[in-house]
Amino acid sequence: MLDVLAMAAHRDDVEQTCGGTLLKMAERGYRTGILDLTQGEMGTRGTSEDRAREAQDAARLLRVSFRQGLDIPDGRVENTWENRIKVARVIREQRPRVLILPYWQGRHPDHYTASVLGYEAAFLAGLRKLGSTPWSRDAGAEGISQLAPHRPFKIIYASLYYDVRPSFVVDITDQFETRFRALMAYTSQYADQNAGSGLFPAEKEIRSRLESMASFYGLLAGVKYAEPFVQKEVGLVDDVTAIPVQSI
Ligand SMILES: [Zn+2]
Repeated sequence: MLDVLAMAAHRDDVEQTCGGTLLKMAERGYRTGILDLTQGEMGTRGTSEDRAREAQDAARLLRVSFRQGLDIPDGRVENTWENRIKVARVIREQRPRVLILPYWQGRHPDHYTASVLGYEAAFLAGLRKLGSTPWSRDAGAEGISQLAPHRPFKIIYASLYYDVRPSFVVDITDQFETRFRALMAYTSQYADQNAGSGLFPAEKEIRSRLESMASFYGLLAGVKYAEPFVQKEVGLVDDVTAIPVQSI
């Protein structure tokens, strides 16, 4: 059973949007995991095999206990029954308490589609009769009824790719360096090289971009580096004297 599962369209999305948070949770003793929907075969550089190896290297750095890549086509993440079932199966197997999804708006269709797909799969995963009625036994759902129903208690949205005011940020000051190294583990994509240098910023530029983003969200909360999240629910407070982030 996982405490936290982060799901995203592409390998390296999680490293960019919520890798520091995953590492921080692992350091606190929680079991964390990553579900990548695609294998990254459309990436300009490297093959999907390179990407798989690099994803495992990054997973080790972020200390996740579980990482799986589904076989949904890269560049064609669609919210179909088959894809929802693939994700629902993983949710039933891994039983996360917290599910981190991408934010539901963005530039890349794979990103915002992954958000809705993840939400609907989480809903499906909790349906007791999933896989045991005629309509829900279709295409890919075989055997899913053998897995106990499960819904994550909490769904939060990693919003770094989109310009939206976060509901809260997670302080990743102590995790920033390792998160940077986890992203740099994707050497086929990010390491300094000549081919396609017009497309991919060199390592130094990536670092300065990551620092700027993390500083911006950190500044909102009075810490050095942070990662932004949106939640749909209101925050519940028990003790108003313990609310963090100074007002004046
Ligand atoms: Zn992506």
